[in-house]
Amino acid sequence: MSEAMLALDGIEKGYNRGKPSEVIVLRGASLTVAKGEVVALVAPSGAGKSTLLHIAGLLDVADAGTVSLGGAEMGGLSDRVRTEVRRAEVGFIYQFHHLLPEFSALENVVIPQLANGATRAAAEARAMDLLGKVGLGPRAGHRPAALSGGEQQRVAFCRALANAPKLLLADEPTGNLDPATSDQVFGVLMELVRSTGLSALIATHNLELAARMDRVVRLSAGQVT
Ligand code: ADP
Repeated sequence: MSEAMLALDGIEKGYNRGKPSEVIVLRGASLTVAKGEVVALVAPSGAGKSTLLHIAGLLDVADAGTVSLGGAEMGGLSDRVRTEVRRAEVGFIYQFHHLLPEFSALENVVIPQLANGATRAAAEARAMDLLGKVGLGPRAGHRPAALSGGEQQRVAFCRALANAPKLLLADEPTGNLDPATSDQVFGVLMELVRSTGLSALIATHNLELAARMDRVVRLSAGQVT
């Protein structure tokens, strides 16, 4: 078996622990994503997909269990190191594009690279390359408001890949689009992921999209099956 890019082992997570409003979301969830593998995470709304993705992407900390990225265990790292690892190794895509409205598509893909230490020239070249791959080269100078929903989401894909992450985490990445656009934009995402050999964990309600990935796992009762 190839080496795991992401390994979650025995993840437990609850909110408002010890209070009457306590919610236990994850109860020993374990899952691996191999290098270059694209895994679909299917679960009903409220099952804890976002919680699991945030823990996998070092945006949140589990109450128990371990997270390993590329074979390295992430427990016990300082917040500063976690942020550095996240910025360099993990790309996120959300249901809503969350692009910066006052900046062009190009700038939205350049900015995270500058934050990661790239020169402007290198960042712009990479941004143009990525936007070209998703068919948006001619739209690079446009602000998000001038783009369609599917185009905005394609820019968000480029932004997620801007720093050449090793792991892509996506939370309903086409969930906000009409079915035909969702289908087409998902195809663009898969091509991008395959062309870079990226590992990905993609949460979706859509079983047809899930079936286009390498493997499907389900999250229910706080565990991955
Ligand atoms: P999904 O992404 O599968 O819809 P989430 O991970 O967003 O699920 O949420 C799982 C459960 O945890 C839900 O019942 C939600 O209400 C609860 N939850 C999420 N975040 C918090 C929080 N910060 N405080 C309290 N409950 C939360």
